Amino acid sequence: MSINVNWDLDSIFAGGSQSKALADFLSQLTADLDSFEATGAPASLTDETQSAWVDAIQTLFDLGARLHQASAFVGCLASQNVKDERALQLMGQTEQLSAKLGALWTRYQAAFAEQDDAAWTNLVTNTDLNSVAFSLNKTRELARQKMAPELETLANDLATDGYHAWGRLYDIVSGDKEVEFEGKPISLGQLQSKFYDDPDRSVRQAAFELFEQSWAELAKTCALALNFQAGFRLALYKHRSWQSVLHEPLLNNRFSAATLEAMWDVVDAKSAKLLDYFDAKAKLFGIDKLTWFDVDAPVGQVTKTFTYQEASDFVVDSINTFDSAIADYCRMAVDQRWIEAEDRPGKRAGAYCTSLPLSREARIFMTYNGSYNGMLTLAHELGHGYHGWVMRDLPYGARRYTMSVAETASTFNEMVVRNASFEASRDDQERLSILGTKLNDAAAFLMNIRARFLFEQAFFDERAKKQLSVDDLNELMLSAQKTAFKDGLAVYHPLFWASKLHFYITHAPFYNFPYTFGFLFSNGVYAQAMAEGPAFHNRYVALLRDTGSMDTEDLAQKHLGVDLTQPEFWETAADRVLADVDEFVALAEKVS
Ligand SMILES: [Zn+2]
Repeated sequence: MSINVNWDLDSIFAGGSQSKALADFLSQLTADLDSFEATGAPASLTDETQSAWVDAIQTLFDLGARLHQASAFVGCLASQNVKDERALQLMGQTEQLSAKLGALWTRYQAAFAEQDDAAWTNLVTNTDLNSVAFSLNKTRELARQKMAPELETLANDLATDGYHAWGRLYDIVSGDKEVEFEGKPISLGQLQSKFYDDPDRSVRQAAFELFEQSWAELAKTCALALNFQAGFRLALYKHRSWQSVLHEPLLNNRFSAATLEAMWDVVDAKSAKLLDYFDAKAKLFGIDKLTWFDVDAPVGQVTKTFTYQEASDFVVDSINTFDSAIADYCRMAVDQRWIEAEDRPGKRAGAYCTSLPLSREARIFMTYNGSYNGMLTLAHELGHGYHGWVMRDLPYGARRYTMSVAETASTFNEMVVRNASFEASRDDQERLSILGTKLNDAAAFLMNIRARFLFEQAFFDERAKKQLSVDDLNELMLSAQKTAFKDGLAVYHPLFWASKLHFYITHAPFYNFPYTFGFLFSNGVYAQAMAEGPAFHNRYVALLRDTGSMDTEDLAQKHLGVDLTQPEFWETAADRVLADVDEFVALAEKVS
């Protein structure tokens, strides 16, 4: 049997976007949501009302799982054919249901906060809700730290036009901008990939200069958007009596300020090692010092291509030498056609893995183009799939994990495959390229992301006192980049605060440090796995299973035996990442 490059969606709902089964599923879901909304919240929590509370909360989770199933499926339809109008309509329908369910949850969260402590403890300890107690307790804790429900509702309503709108304004202003490069009109996003990825340095330089100039033209508007959305957030935090701007993102990621500090201290102490990598790379480029537009540029070359069959075999085989259960999962996902990999027009860009909670399966979307990077993407997304697979039998309310641990299994898979391809390669240019991409990741997570964090922290400190001008923001960014890159670059990107969309994502403040956390966390897990061999498997699975029901520190203590608030774990992880530097330097000398 030959391998199939298209996924199977019909086994979930037959008939694509015209599916009768899906239409029926959605109308039943809508009806159930409406009737649940109509019943209203149960009366205060007592022994008498306890079972009504259990039923209501389980219904909320059940509605969530069903909506998740439908949304994931509809998302798949929309990605496989961007011209499928019916899929877009269905997406609008599931988004409306999501908003409705979100509002119901908000009402319940406020109600959780108001219930008596003893009655609440009894509810989440001595009933069927026990298996989702962690998530319910977290929800209640958060609601208790907020303002009175009517004030939160007001703030939430005002946020649409007074807060999130600044992010939307930014999207529109930056998305509309077109420039002419090499005789053709291109978007700023396309221009950015030119200066990051183009192997020709003069192209990168020209693209970067035009990029800075274009953002300088937009900077005044961006600065206003950034100032006003930060002002909104600071005012809201003040009314909630939240002392630190990190309070919310740390809660969202389920770890403490002490852990964050321990991690950044180690990054600060260790990242200077990357300057050896920068020096070797600069020599390869024939320059004295790297610039902002050289850091991510490719070195060496992987000329080999792989058919989809070869790539999936290589992924499965390399993982198999390490852990046969993960390899079996990957083989199954390929064979059962859970992956859409075909390279054809009309598909959306990018790659993702989505879970189907009711089917207890996943679907992976990508466009496999035969490249080495394509193979890594396949390995990465299969890691996400495996994470969901080991959690598939848990209650829906215990299956949701945060951004900080979401990349554990995906990064892990990627590392296994990268290392296997490095070992298998006999070509120096290829080996150089493989190490180069690994170290580019290291520079991104340890330096670039750290610069974003340092900037954002300094920005909020200043913003509490005054409104910042374009020059103020440029200065803060330049200083953050110099610190994070250890003065290792000849040219920086002071307008990064304007060009980086992440600073404008109002739904996830400080959209930066969870990336570094996830990267180092996964490397730390990988280091333990390497040290222990096959015996690590059961602990790995247990760790992944608990990602939806523990704080990150507890998770690491229980399954890895480490204290994340102390430097040791982070040091081991950073050393693993930086171990490639000397090998790269030696190889670079050999090829030049
Ligand atoms: Zn990922």
